[in-house]
Amino acid sequence: MIIEPKIRGFVCVTAHPDGCAANVKEQIEVARAGGKVADGPKRVLVIGSSTGYGLSSRIQAAFGCGADTFGVFFERPASNGRPASAGYYNAATLEAEARKEGLYAGSLNGDAFSDELKDKVIERLKKEMGPIDLVVYSLASPRRTDPRSGETFKSCLKPIGQSFSSKTVDTDKDLVHEIQIDPADGEDVHSTIKVMGGEDWERWMECLAENDLLADNFKTIAYSYIGPKLTWPIYKNGTIGKAKEDLDRAATVITDQYKNLGGEAYVAVNKAVVTQASSAIPVVPLYISILFKIMKEKGTHEGCIEQIVRLFRDRLYGGNEVELGDDGRIHVDDLEMKPEIQAAVAEIWPLITSENLKELSDYMGYQNDFLKLFGFGVDGIDYTRDVDPDTALPGGDW
Ligand code: NAD
Repeated sequence: MIIEPKIRGFVCVTAHPDGCAANVKEQIEVARAGGKVADGPKRVLVIGSSTGYGLSSRIQAAFGCGADTFGVFFERPASNGRPASAGYYNAATLEAEARKEGLYAGSLNGDAFSDELKDKVIERLKKEMGPIDLVVYSLASPRRTDPRSGETFKSCLKPIGQSFSSKTVDTDKDLVHEIQIDPADGEDVHSTIKVMGGEDWERWMECLAENDLLADNFKTIAYSYIGPKLTWPIYKNGTIGKAKEDLDRAATVITDQYKNLGGEAYVAVNKAVVTQASSAIPVVPLYISILFKIMKEKGTHEGCIEQIVRLFRDRLYGGNEVELGDDGRIHVDDLEMKPEIQAAVAEIWPLITSENLKELSDYMGYQNDFLKLFGFGVDGIDYTRDVDPDTALPGGDW
């Protein structure tokens, strides 16, 4: 079949296997070019490994560190001639490429929040990999069922205390307009913490520890975002920000809990990039479009893989002491947050309108990156080729 993009709001419901494969291979080349990380991890579990920061983490672990990797994700396989989700094709490509390199690569597709999936992962790790020296926790999900209570929580992106009005861009219509977002009420903050906070990260670490699957001196890391003041009402100071604060709490608990193993848990603050998760956040896509223009002009632009290469090579490993900011977190958002970059964003922000969107920002770059997430608009891919959406699928152990 010929697969074309079908965009519905901030998701694309189709994905192209060839384009996704090319994206993964491109990231592998970036990881290789970053050089082998000295003292890098050797057995890595990535929870949320099929797209965005988790995918890049798995790629860097395998191809930048030579590690065996196990990936967990929630993706849709192809069915009835309908293409699989992008993450499915990404994971299939990554596994195939890792195996070519002689590295172990295993995956499980299912709900990472559930006890059932955790049990299956533990079983596979015991049989196939052994104690893990790095656990990357990179889930972005709209909901979570707590396996202990059976209750389902929904995360939301809302300001706290008062409503928030801001410019945003409607990416379907290329329109810059004002939005007003009502403040969180009722259980919104609690529910968002339940989904995107640290409870499930702690649960994963407990399951691994109970099964002797944490190596001595292991590290574990979860990803956070802070960003500039103009997004704070909806991000840092909003419901999602509270969930991210809960990751800080969880990191302290995990480090304390596994002191006997010399384990260390960190929160890394990463840069704003185009992913399926970030495209769903109001205001952020417009900010990213402006930011990318400025960072590209200054030659400091980075995508997920460049961020993660730096995180592993210069912050977590590479013979370096883990360097923490005053807030106790690892920062790879340093280039985004440089005062001159933020001053340039702040200058453009009040001026931007639908009419000058493409001129004052890298909106086209944003749109291209968004399509690329789903394997479209990738250089060298023949989109007129008749493809079997089932190709590139692995051997059925997912
Ligand atoms: P993403 O949407 O690209 O990736 C999410 C991953 O989680 C995918 O692999 C998906 O399959 C997996 N997933 C979701 N629900 C799952 C479930 N129930 N079970 C198993 N797997 C599940 O998101 P992303 O932007 O890479 O976000 C990853 C982390 O990075 C998040 O904590 C996010 O807040 C953080 N972060 C993102 C940005 C950004 O700009 N995108 C910046 C800084 C930090």
